[in-house]
Amino acid sequence: MAHRSIPKHPAPARPFATRLSAWQRAHGRHGLPWQGTRDPYRIWLAEIMLQQTQVATVVPYYARFLAAFPDVRALAAAPVDRVLELWSGLGYYRRAHHLHAAAGVIVAQCGGRFPRDARTIAALPGVGRSTAAAIAAFAFGERAAILDGNVKRVLARHRGIDGFPGAPKVEARLWESAESLLPARGIETYTQALMDLGATVCARTAPRCGECPVAADCVARIEGRVAALPAPRPAKARPARVVRVLVLERAGTILLEKRPAAGIWAGLWSLPEIDPDADIARHCKARFLASVTAGDELPPIEHGFTHFSLTIQPQRVDVRRWPLRAEAPGLLWLTRDDALAAALPAPIRKLLQSL
Ligand code: SF4
Repeated sequence: MAHRSIPKHPAPARPFATRLSAWQRAHGRHGLPWQGTRDPYRIWLAEIMLQQTQVATVVPYYARFLAAFPDVRALAAAPVDRVLELWSGLGYYRRAHHLHAAAGVIVAQCGGRFPRDARTIAALPGVGRSTAAAIAAFAFGERAAILDGNVKRVLARHRGIDGFPGAPKVEARLWESAESLLPARGIETYTQALMDLGATVCARTAPRCGECPVAADCVARIEGRVAALPAPRPAKARPARVVRVLVLERAGTILLEKRPAAGIWAGLWSLPEIDPDADIARHCKARFLASVTAGDELPPIEHGFTHFSLTIQPQRVDVRRWPLRAEAPGLLWLTRDDALAAALPAPIRKLLQSL
């Protein structure tokens, strides 16, 4: 390929995949709860949970989830609220919605039998090309390349690939590299090795090149560009949004409101939200027919999403009169402890814990 920058460095005697797999056997991660199984359901669940979350965080969630939904039929049959409850705290809730939807697809369209090749698996909701390849490799031994964020970093450094890995042209080169490096056999160990190297040795900051099994021909190391690769996302200011949330309190309980089925924190329980400039008493009168008095403002909470940053301004509100007819589906009065047991967005959980 015209853009390969490796050839000027001597090639080590053993192929990339051989060195990496040998390293994995000696130094990689073993004994994780989703390893040592060929059950695609268990592997799929782990891969989805691990998409944006560290191993140590995933382990207890994985165990609870599997205890509640031991197979794809159990997951498909569960109400989405129960799925969200067990996901609460893991973040990126679209993953839970997709997981539930995909289970429905597998039961309805495949008779409950998990698809057996990467291409079909990739068509399930919430499963991209890389995740599908990982599932197919671990469950069925399919020789398919993965390219998650960690692997992009390893390959960008090792192959000396410039440019932001999220840019389509750069990503295409990374996929080419990933595919060209696949071993003829032993795909499971190799796939795990790539994941382990990215998570433990070729870390984003301070990679441990001295312990790296593929350091000999790593372009970034040889050329002193480890800190510069992969190239960061081109700077673009994230828009900022501000909302006020109301901590409506009545007789030792707090009002929770269910979020709409689409958008951020879809389907989770949260606090009623209003425009920061709106008049609280007037808003509560119009919306709930309630008489309230605004109390203290609580310290703001900053929360980052991929595409924008959110400042949440919590406001205590004392409810003096709450008409019965304001009770409605999607609204719940709960004690703080009961509220903390519900499926809450992480910043709202933090806020309620601080009360
Ligand atoms: S030598 Fe360093 S930068 Fe290169 S792949 Fe190994 S850990 Fe990453």
